[in-house]
Amino acid sequence: MHLNAFLEVYETEALERALLLDSNRNSGKKTGKLHGVIVGLKDIICHKNHITSAGSRILENFRSVYNATVVDKLLEEDAIIIGRQNCDEFAMGSSNENSAYGSVLNAADNTRVPGGSSGGSAVSVQANLCMISLGSDTGGSVRQPADFCGIVGLKPTYGRISRYGLIAYASSFDQIGIFAKTIADAALILEVISGADEYDSTVIESDFEYKTDRETSFKKPYRIGYFPATFDHPSLDKEIAAKQKEFISNLSENEIEVLSIDFDLLDYIVPAYYILTTAEAASNLSRYDGLKYGASVQATMLDEQINLTRSNFFGKEVKRRIMLGTFVLSEGYYDAYITQAQKIRNILLEKVKAVFDQVDAIIFPVSPSTAFKLGEKNSDPVEMFLADIYTVFANLTGIPAISIPLFKHSNGMPYGVQLMAFHLNELTLLALSEKLIAINTAVE
Ligand code: GLN
Repeated sequence: MHLNAFLEVYETEALERALLLDSNRNSGKKTGKLHGVIVGLKDIICHKNHITSAGSRILENFRSVYNATVVDKLLEEDAIIIGRQNCDEFAMGSSNENSAYGSVLNAADNTRVPGGSSGGSAVSVQANLCMISLGSDTGGSVRQPADFCGIVGLKPTYGRISRYGLIAYASSFDQIGIFAKTIADAALILEVISGADEYDSTVIESDFEYKTDRETSFKKPYRIGYFPATFDHPSLDKEIAAKQKEFISNLSENEIEVLSIDFDLLDYIVPAYYILTTAEAASNLSRYDGLKYGASVQATMLDEQINLTRSNFFGKEVKRRIMLGTFVLSEGYYDAYITQAQKIRNILLEKVKAVFDQVDAIIFPVSPSTAFKLGEKNSDPVEMFLADIYTVFANLTGIPAISIPLFKHSNGMPYGVQLMAFHLNELTLLALSEKLIAINTAVE
């Protein structure tokens, strides 16, 4: 079955690199931390001399002239880059159906979506086409597809990983994330790709160190908070809600203190997210004008050339978001939308600070449902937006979050839970994730 996960596989190049790495090792050279690890890149991370199309026709033939910082860091540690992976156009979507290059199929059930926007990256790890994938997570695009495919999906703290060379969607939300089969793999990759970078001024200059004694490095008991409002939300599948609640109620028997926390802002977060991200997208995507690079329709007048290029080469969802973003930024509407959404973002940040005074982590669902059928949600963009209810919180506040595969639904599809920690507390996040996996394995 062709899953359409990769847009391009660098067969010859990957084999040549593997031979080179072998001969380096045989000749006694020190091996890198990722010696021979096969990594796939979402088609939105620039890779020198390779096409990076962002799942769009407008960049169909665009060859990057430089490497994203993460690519350099992977290569320095001897990884092998195997190809570029299908995704929603400019990372806008939750099902991978907005890619200009066709849908990706979920390997657990080919009639279902892989999630999005990093769908190809998730399926590649799910189907063992590579060991690790890098995706981007602006509002859930690593965590939700990881959940739909039954693998680990980590979105680190905003600023933990350089965004240099990540094609921008919404710059104050975008963060590169990691798909892996295990928490330990995700931790090692995070150590390699995070850290200071002179090309991205938003990067936090604090190193993440991979530790093998993640579990033991914490004082017990762990404290995990949950917002009942998230598990009681009417959009959440009943079977998922029941299972997650049962799991949470059993945590207290396992050195974990569970705290219920009031949260009455749930219905504000998706609107705030879509107002702010579309505004940033409208600005970021203005660079695709058919003049400097990318596809172009020639015309005698400048505005006509820009119009025709964008009309012809942007897909429907991207156009919708540029229009939405332009609208909310327009004079007369700015205060009603942007200012209000920014207020919500600030209130959420205050809430997060208060919550993490009380707990080490919070537990959330990842998505209201398991992977849905291809085409099922295509006709209603608002329904698709609303399904981001559990993931956009971490991007609005910049905190690290992870989706952990734990359960199987009666429909046969995998799902799990999401954990979030305070800024830069990835170590807590990873330690607790391992703990939750162990607890679940013990009861299975
Ligand atoms: N589904 C969300 C959106 O369409 C998230 C996308 C992302 O994280 N790149 O905006």
